[in-house]
Amino acid sequence: MRVHNFSAGPAVLPESVLRQAAAEMLDWRGSGMSVMEMSHRGKEFISIAEKAEADLRTLLAIPANHKVLFLQGGAIGENAIVPMNLVGGRKSIDFVNTGEWSKKSIKEAKRYAEVRVAASSEDRAFSYVPARETWKLDPSAAYVHICTNETIGGVEYHWTPDTGDVPLVADMSSHLLSRPVDVARYGVIYGGAQKNLGPAGLTLVIVRDDLLDRALPICPSAFHWKEQAAADSMLNTPPTWAIYIAGLVFEWLIAQGGLAAIERKNVAKAKLLYDVLDASGFYSSPVRKEDRSRMNVPFRLPDEKLDAAFLKGAEERGMVQLKGHRAVGGMRASIYNAMPVEGVRALADYLREFERSHG
Ligand SMILES: *Cc1c(COP(=O)(O)O)cnc(C)c1O
Repeated sequence: MRVHNFSAGPAVLPESVLRQAAAEMLDWRGSGMSVMEMSHRGKEFISIAEKAEADLRTLLAIPANHKVLFLQGGAIGENAIVPMNLVGGRKSIDFVNTGEWSKKSIKEAKRYAEVRVAASSEDRAFSYVPARETWKLDPSAAYVHICTNETIGGVEYHWTPDTGDVPLVADMSSHLLSRPVDVARYGVIYGGAQKNLGPAGLTLVIVRDDLLDRALPICPSAFHWKEQAAADSMLNTPPTWAIYIAGLVFEWLIAQGGLAAIERKNVAKAKLLYDVLDASGFYSSPVRKEDRSRMNVPFRLPDEKLDAAFLKGAEERGMVQLKGHRAVGGMRASIYNAMPVEGVRALADYLREFERSHG
């Protein structure tokens, strides 16, 4: 039996994708091989990678002057790889600090350049996105870095900041493909796949092509965007299996009606949970309403001593991975694209039931 899996990542995948991968495991479409066994330079795998990129471009309406790279190293790897590719000839980077993932990006970037924190929500425990008018941007910065969905804190940008001529770079690991994005407004979008796109091991980078000439000489070839773009992400062996599964997820998203349709479902799913939290005098939600994440819903019980009983009851009802991140405590429900609405309804029902019995 499959559980309702609220893990923040690696996370739930569409069941139909897993079934298709299982059916194709030993023999991918008459090739006599598993995708895992294919040469990345063979015609079969090239067709898989090309289809995945084409479908991703369709889903996000990616402009022709943005390159799509299928890399490795995860988003934490990218926290170093981004500055190595973008600070050449420039001195400092502007960051907006909205929580745990912003802090990690800042820590890593400091190895490669001066870092300025242009705005921060640390004053109120990272419970909001600072308004654009409060950002103190440096017009000579190499780029402005934001994390558009803080997976741990549950804070999401529901708007796109204007940074003028300074390129905007966004870690979108945990909400990419959950809604339409105006890709043209970003210099770089990156994310690890294991939240909302597919299995761990694949890192997606979407980069505007005029930004490919800013790498530091120390940048390794495998992480050098210009070299990888010239090699169609095959300068080294790409994460072939993860690209294949992500490709199946892209096909599934298109069959669901594309990102506008997915966004409507995600809005409805998130509302089911936030409505329960808001109607309750028992649970609390730490994030300002306008900035609440649709993907990661953190909440607290009135007393930490109830946490274990809450988690045990959830598990008995087939709902797992609801414990909040160790950095912030409490509970967290991650409800990515592949989380069916039935799973969210089951959790909403359980939240009400637990409040009645313990409130
Ligand atoms: C999960 C996550 C990361 C880290 O991803 P890794 O694959 O572990 O490197 C970075 N940023 C955000 C927003 C995340 O959700």
